[in-house]
Amino acid sequence: MRRFAALLLGGSAVLAGVVAGLAPAVWWSGGHESITEAAAARLPDDVPAFFRRGGKLLAHFSGDPDRWKNREAKFLRRAEEGNHFLDLEDLDGKELPGTNRFDGQRLIYYKLKKDPSRVGLLPYAILENYERLMVGFYDHRQTPNVEAVPMKCLVAGGVLAHYTADAAMPLHTTRDYDGRPQPGGGFKQKGVHARLDAFPEKNGIGPEEITRGLEAKVIGDVWAHVMKFIAESHAEVDKCYELDAVKAFENPTDESRAFVLTRCRAGAQLTLDLWYTAWVRSEKLPPHW
Ligand SMILES: [Zn+2]
Repeated sequence: MRRFAALLLGGSAVLAGVVAGLAPAVWWSGGHESITEAAAARLPDDVPAFFRRGGKLLAHFSGDPDRWKNREAKFLRRAEEGNHFLDLEDLDGKELPGTNRFDGQRLIYYKLKKDPSRVGLLPYAILENYERLMVGFYDHRQTPNVEAVPMKCLVAGGVLAHYTADAAMPLHTTRDYDGRPQPGGGFKQKGVHARLDAFPEKNGIGPEEITRGLEAKVIGDVWAHVMKFIAESHAEVDKCYELDAVKAFENPTDESRAFVLTRCRAGAQLTLDLWYTAWVRSEKLPPHW
């Protein structure tokens, strides 16, 4: 969707083709929600039961960041679209500041002279929702009987799960998110994004297989961990194009199936780890005010 805006501003002639090629497919597509649910069930027993058993609710909320891109919700859509990706090439080797979104936007805008919403702000969306969950868990520890508290934890945890899944999808970490630009114009392997998105559902990569044996762990430096995770995901971009070039997403091979499963499991692991870290860290938070 962001490319629509980018191309519109650039006045590109390929606009029509690009828009026509945009598929509504979402990474983990039909499986996204059930994977969130399966991951929740794998949380350790010290996490509150409302959260461990809140899989269905978490699963619903994990779809919200895409709903916020509804075309009629113009303010929200514009604020939201950059949250789903980070085009690492566009950082020109610079590191995003691990402080807050505004410092990141400043670096991209003033130092790199680029539009932050087109370079992407995914790690900030992850950190912000991780912290929302941590603050919510703190409230649960303080006031376990307030009815609103579990709800807000489930909203934050579900939304967080959306962005962690995005981070695991290599094509959310590159400007070549759907095909590679050719010297004479146009894109090679257009549609690769939708082909990869559709793979898990089409090939029976389901929640049980994705979350099998995963165990939640506490992350030390959450920002550093998330940036490392995004870099690892980015390192698989070439592999996505290689597999797609031999049509291994359309006609699955052992290799393409193992590749996609690994990315899905990485996403589920990150989700689990951030949920659990938010719970553990919530114990030592200072009072809000
Ligand atoms: Zn997304």
